[in-house]
Amino acid sequence: MTPEQLPARPPFALRARLLTPLAAGGTRHEANGLLLVDAAGRLTFAGAAAERPTDAAGAIDLRPWVVLPGLVDLHAHLPQVPNAGIGFALDLLTWLDRLTFPTERSWSDPSVAERLAPTIFEAFAAAGTTTVLGYGVVYKAAMDATFEAAEAHGVRAILGKVMMDRSTYDRVIEPSTILDRSLRESADLIARWHGADDGRLGYAVTPRFAVSCSADMLRESAALARAAGTWWQTHVSEDPFEIAEVHRLFPEAEDYVDVYDRAGGLGERTVLAHAIHLSERELGRLVQTGARVAHCPASNLFIGAGVMPLAHYREAGLVVGLGSDVSGGPDLSIFSVMRAGAYTQMARRSLAGDEGAILGPLDWLRMGTLGGAEVLGLADEIGSLEAGKEADLIAVDPAYVASVRGAEDADPEDLISRLIFRSHPDMVRGAWVRGRRLEGPSERA
Ligand SMILES: [Zn+2]
Repeated sequence: MTPEQLPARPPFALRARLLTPLAAGGTRHEANGLLLVDAAGRLTFAGAAAERPTDAAGAIDLRPWVVLPGLVDLHAHLPQVPNAGIGFALDLLTWLDRLTFPTERSWSDPSVAERLAPTIFEAFAAAGTTTVLGYGVVYKAAMDATFEAAEAHGVRAILGKVMMDRSTYDRVIEPSTILDRSLRESADLIARWHGADDGRLGYAVTPRFAVSCSADMLRESAALARAAGTWWQTHVSEDPFEIAEVHRLFPEAEDYVDVYDRAGGLGERTVLAHAIHLSERELGRLVQTGARVAHCPASNLFIGAGVMPLAHYREAGLVVGLGSDVSGGPDLSIFSVMRAGAYTQMARRSLAGDEGAILGPLDWLRMGTLGGAEVLGLADEIGSLEAGKEADLIAVDPAYVASVRGAEDADPEDLISRLIFRSHPDMVRGAWVRGRRLEGPSERA
């Protein structure tokens, strides 16, 4: 199967091995499966080929490839993608100053965004990510260029212009005007992009984190998100130095989560990255308000920020999905994030005596697909291969992860285990959003 043979636009029918979490719970595995995608890019059938022999006879046959739901990355910094894999073990605040802020500042020239953004979305698709919740930069023109690139590429993207008024890397803007300007530019971007292409593109109001935002900016940004019906994303409780700095800057707040609570930022459209070191009070408050968390274990290990007590959080009812956090995380692949998360949980058990449940490969697959869709409130639309959902898919060649040639796993849990623990950068051979094939995977093969 070559990329040119893959369907580029809906409608189409695919025969493949299918593996997907199900909205009602559990997993569906069809060794000889069939997917039917209608002209609008929706799945009208996902099941055994034997149930629809006439459709199966005319389908494009991808076997032995495996079709999975597209992966959902809930936390990524798009301009930092070129830095992925460097900066190991710098603490968070040093890493921001040395690597991250200079990179983001280079996007003050919108032609940099125009040049890089298309390749960045291709890199996500090559990693199997079909939905990304991302941070951009503080510059509006660069954000328009980034959204334009997402619109053209076909990825499902919820993005936001970064807001910072306490310590910003932009050296041009007069500090006293930053808040008004940032709100106005965010509102302009919302008007143009939130819900664009029938909801494929969305906006997340994006105050970077409490250290770089005044209480006014946090409050006004949350009000803007509520009024416009967008998402609201920021970081919380990542690194001990950062937490201490938040306590110093917000002495009136009870704790880090309370800073966002007082701003009116906690709710079901809120996605907080990291949340590693939460107190019981903070955890309870996130659960109570319905705020969601992007778990970024690869980043947490790479920067050395800490280790999330994931099992405890899940038992408490916190809604958690996965994020790459490039370039705090070294790799765009959500399969790599699953691997880092699995090792992290095992290390907690070995070193810290954590007796919480250890997640299996199919649990990680669920968290990286349907779980991510649930965090975004999009689980009725994407996240699994089920009739009625939009056809956000990836095709993976299991030969890349087999331990010896020709020995692909028949057991679905074994297969996903190898995709996680033996990930190969070229194993994703095709990616589709709403049945439209995305550029990226084919160029790697
Ligand atoms: Zn981040």
